[in-house]
Amino acid sequence: MINQQRLLEAFINMTRIDSPSLAERALADWLSVQFSALGCRVREDQAGSMIGGNCGNLYIDCPGSLPGPSLLFSVHLDRVEPGHHIEAVLGEDGIIRSAGETILAADDIAGIAALLEMVRSLKEDNRPHRSIEILMSVGEEAHLQGIHHVRPDWIKSTEAYIFDTSGAPGIAVLEAPGHIRLDITITGKSAHAGIEPDKGISAIQVAAVAVNAMRLGQVDSETTANIGSISGGGETNIVAEQCQITAECRSRSQSRLHEQADHMEQCVREAADKAGARAEVRQTISYLPYQIEPEAPVAARFARACAQIGLTPHYISTGGGSDNNVLYRHGITGLVLSCGMQQVHSTAECLSLRDLLQTAQLAETLAIDPV
Ligand SMILES: [Zn+2]
Repeated sequence: MINQQRLLEAFINMTRIDSPSLAERALADWLSVQFSALGCRVREDQAGSMIGGNCGNLYIDCPGSLPGPSLLFSVHLDRVEPGHHIEAVLGEDGIIRSAGETILAADDIAGIAALLEMVRSLKEDNRPHRSIEILMSVGEEAHLQGIHHVRPDWIKSTEAYIFDTSGAPGIAVLEAPGHIRLDITITGKSAHAGIEPDKGISAIQVAAVAVNAMRLGQVDSETTANIGSISGGGETNIVAEQCQITAECRSRSQSRLHEQADHMEQCVREAADKAGARAEVRQTISYLPYQIEPEAPVAARFARACAQIGLTPHYISTGGGSDNNVLYRHGITGLVLSCGMQQVHSTAECLSLRDLLQTAQLAETLAIDPV
């Protein structure tokens, strides 16, 4: 049975182990010991060395005796700042908060603790369960860096539950946008701004014309776009030769995502051509959108598990990307599930012990689902 005290202790222990993005080694090593002691196979890929971190993504295999394909459970090892020397305290109101001026790191320790307790409980009770694969990614908070180097050949499951979103248990994300980043460099021509300004081509003016022509903000019901930064030029007496723009667009529709990125690129090219400047535009697909039907088997299993432990499933769509977007590209259909964390990425972050307990119960119920 899920053991609340053991779960709470594991949660508090893990929040104490510093685990910033790209330096997840200590937490990964602690978890490897725990899961190995439970008879699971733990492997680590090369993601760490590829992203400049000290640790790769972890893959934990826990074979089960129930028939049916294995299920993937996924979390991330890293946390945002200020996340060093966290001291988690359970209040009399049943809420866990950080005592100091740090985050709590319930994002994503709540998910990790729930999965560890799930395996401990299943093993302790000798309970038949599906074969379980657990993926723990690194660098998730740093633009999903670790998951981009995931080894899909190390994962057998085609259905996944990613324990990594805010709110009381019962929430599932069915839809998330894709994301394209644009890095733009405009090169004009420098000239003395007082003596012969007409001989120059201002890269900054070209950038202004280009940005002004773009559709930005909430472009349509499923698409957004934004300029992140503009930089360039130098002294006021020189017509600016160079200007850099960073921008992004997101859409829940893959075709609209590409259309919007191409539209932004086109605005830059037209403005540059008209002024006689040169434009370099690099589009980088960070991740593609996904959309899961509520009738899909992965969602149906979630709904069954919720019903069994008295939760009402609540389906949402989100504006942000997660490891799930990348897994989806590898043919894995996953739901991002809430695991009790609240007000994440702030020093007000908190987690109710009851929600943590229910998250572990939900995970276990998914793992013993016979269908
Ligand atoms: Zn997270």
